[in-house]
Amino acid sequence: MSRIKGRDTRPEMLIRKWLWASGYRYRLHKKDLPGKPDIVFPGRKKLIFIHGCFWHRHECNYFQWPETNRDFWKQKIGETVKRDQRNYEKLTSSGWDCMTIWECEITGNENNKLREKVKKFLIGEYIK
Ligand SMILES: [Zn+2]
Repeated sequence: MSRIKGRDTRPEMLIRKWLWASGYRYRLHKKDLPGKPDIVFPGRKKLIFIHGCFWHRHECNYFQWPETNRDFWKQKIGETVKRDQRNYEKLTSSGWDCMTIWECEITGNENNKLREKVKKFLIGEYIK
């Protein structure tokens, strides 16, 4: 199951601390934006979602369908994924540049790669 369940969870804090220490200034959980993005850079019109691999069905080793109540989980997670898609479309069509950081990218051993990716995203060289 996901290690990211609510706000201020550990992987998210790691990213935030690193961003702050690197001189980036941001806003958190802006409620007036679709999907309440986790980290928002209003001046750059960019934002970051930090997604738990289980809840948002990432295709990685962290994601596995639970053994029990499969129908329930398929429906629940299916709805989350559809909602993510809708939010993403709403945001990009109103000019926001969006990035998703997955739990496994933060907790894995490739933090340098992730930091490089985030920096590129913030200076506008990020290619999805
Ligand atoms: Zn993942």
